Amino acid sequence: PGSKAQAKTYQIGTDVTYPPFEFANKSNKYVGIDIDIMQAIAKEEGFKVNVKPVGFNAAVQSVQSGQLDGIIAGMTITPERKDKFDFGTPYYKTGAVMAVKKGSDITSLKQLKGKKVALKTGTAAADYANSLKKKYGFKTVTFDDSDNMYQDVTTGNSVACFDDQPVLQYGIKHGLKLQIATKPANQGWYGFGVKKGTHKELVQKFNAGLKKIRANGTYDKIVGKYLGTTA
Ligand code: GLN
Repeated sequence: PGSKAQAKTYQIGTDVTYPPFEFANKSNKYVGIDIDIMQAIAKEEGFKVNVKPVGFNAAVQSVQSGQLDGIIAGMTITPERKDKFDFGTPYYKTGAVMAVKKGSDITSLKQLKGKKVALKTGTAAADYANSLKKKYGFKTVTFDDSDNMYQDVTTGNSVACFDDQPVLQYGIKHGLKLQIATKPANQGWYGFGVKKGTHKELVQKFNAGLKKIRANGTYDKIVGKYLGTTA
């Protein structure tokens, strides 16, 4: 009697490091556009989130197995994923690009013939690269996170990697020794995902909250905080 309903806590999976969308700051706290958006929405809608930086592919799998309630991880809404996930309102535009070591003379896919390319397991950019593998005759090596994939290119083990344009742009701006070599392909949008047919209320709350933070300027403020612009 007289007790208030407890705010529900949802377990939300995210990438280990995918700046500016999710990354550990200097005090080892997870921040970024995805994290801040999710927290702002939770506050608006009266729920709580427990952010679990388990890695992109692990978060995808954990949502499918029911160990996590949702995923926010710079996750592209793709037709294939729509068979397994329900997504909230798209919140950020993206596309896959190829990046090479800074100063590399590789400027096109054709130059990948016989070379090794680094990919990140389970990503839309990896799917895109794998769809080109036969045509352009390159080999691949896979990594679980973007940092290790980038490092394989900067150390010269691989000649290129594929990842999302906004993430590579941000990384390069902040000192990553890579350069973007191709135009964005397979363009799409990031979405908050839950296992298909589950957590209907969570998706509804996400959408309602997103609408509010878009209207009240919080969304632009968050994006501006990380990118110095509005999007
Ligand atoms: N946007 C890409 C995808 O959905 C990559 C996401 C990520 O690496 N965190 O597959």
